[in-house]
Amino acid sequence: MPDVYNWQLGRTMPYPHERGTPTHQFGAVFNINRCIGCQTCTMACKSTWTFSRGQEHMWWNNVESKPFGGYPQSWDVKLLEMLGPQPGWDTSLATPTAPYGVYRGKTIFEAAPPGQATVGYLPEDKEWRFPNIYEDTSNRSPQTTGGVQEGASLPEHQVFFFYLARICNHCSYPACLAACPRNAIYKRPEDGIVLIDQSRCRGYRKCIEACPYKKPMWRPNTRLSEKCIACYPRVEKGTVTRCVSACVGKIRLQGWIDDPRSPVYYLVHEEQVALPSYPQFGTEPNVYYIPPRWAPRKYLRQMFGPGVDTAIAKYTNPSRTLLGVLQLFGVTQKILYSYEVTSTDAVGYDENGVEVVRVPIDEPVVVRPEQHLNIT
Ligand code: SF4
Ligand code: SF4
Repeated sequence: MPDVYNWQLGRTMPYPHERGTPTHQFGAVFNINRCIGCQTCTMACKSTWTFSRGQEHMWWNNVESKPFGGYPQSWDVKLLEMLGPQPGWDTSLATPTAPYGVYRGKTIFEAAPPGQATVGYLPEDKEWRFPNIYEDTSNRSPQTTGGVQEGASLPEHQVFFFYLARICNHCSYPACLAACPRNAIYKRPEDGIVLIDQSRCRGYRKCIEACPYKKPMWRPNTRLSEKCIACYPRVEKGTVTRCVSACVGKIRLQGWIDDPRSPVYYLVHEEQVALPSYPQFGTEPNVYYIPPRWAPRKYLRQMFGPGVDTAIAKYTNPSRTLLGVLQLFGVTQKILYSYEVTSTDAVGYDENGVEVVRVPIDEPVVVRPEQHLNIT
């Protein structure tokens, strides 16, 4: 089993499959602080890719309400329980290439039972019934806290919920790919998008069992597995995915996680305001989240790792550059390859360095002359 370097863990780890290095790696940042749970992304994806017979239960993009929601139900809690208590990160060993320190616990690959690629489980059919079960349900109600309205002020609300938008993470070390006995899953060399070859798949569902995020899904009428394809026909044309394009809250920014010119690279590697979800699982997911600043830190650290406090501090008091890059979320259908933050504007450029969007950083303020004031 070859060892690979996982920067999110700050160490090497075994990965039970050959792994090519893509020229580019698809990535995205989702700003949880802005998500309103409207499910426009979910419907944009469904109406594009999963509207056919046998796909009724499939939501390649779903938005779930944390802490109780999950699609499939309790996917993360179940896997965390299977992994058991783990030591976590040694943050004293943090370096520029291992910004969270070194993870001392076991990944899903290291905790795999003999003969299997990962530790994992296959959800029952009923667990896939709701893309947002327990919608808007907080962890405690005022009734259970004696009518006391706890958590009404920042920095942390003890009574909380938040929306977690989820797609396939197009992981650098995909568990789905490693577990497939048919070698039907592959990572595209040009953009790192992870796809299931439908002509090779035999529907053994090993990918579903292995994926810690439960993003491959089984289609009963074809008896094959399917998953988010990162809207690759759009990506090939330099256009963002349907979920990114449709997002009402402008919470999503798509780009290349490995290119220092990309705004996504800036948010993850330079500013470190965007974090992977459950990095301890070990697949090196490529969708990153700006964590919700109101939720309890302990809960967030379990979900996004030890970078949470730094990320929230930076998001709460953003630098001028961060403020500029945050304006580039959801403002264009084009994938932004590079960006610039001037004294007045945030500017995005396409693959050829052509300007495709320019957004003012500060809202212009217009004060009406006194004679137009609507007062007597
Ligand atoms: S999120 Fe799951 S399905 Fe997607 S690449 Fe990673 S392991 Fe595979
Ligand atoms: S469209 Fe955007 S704001 Fe609405 S639920 Fe999806 S991610 Fe959240």
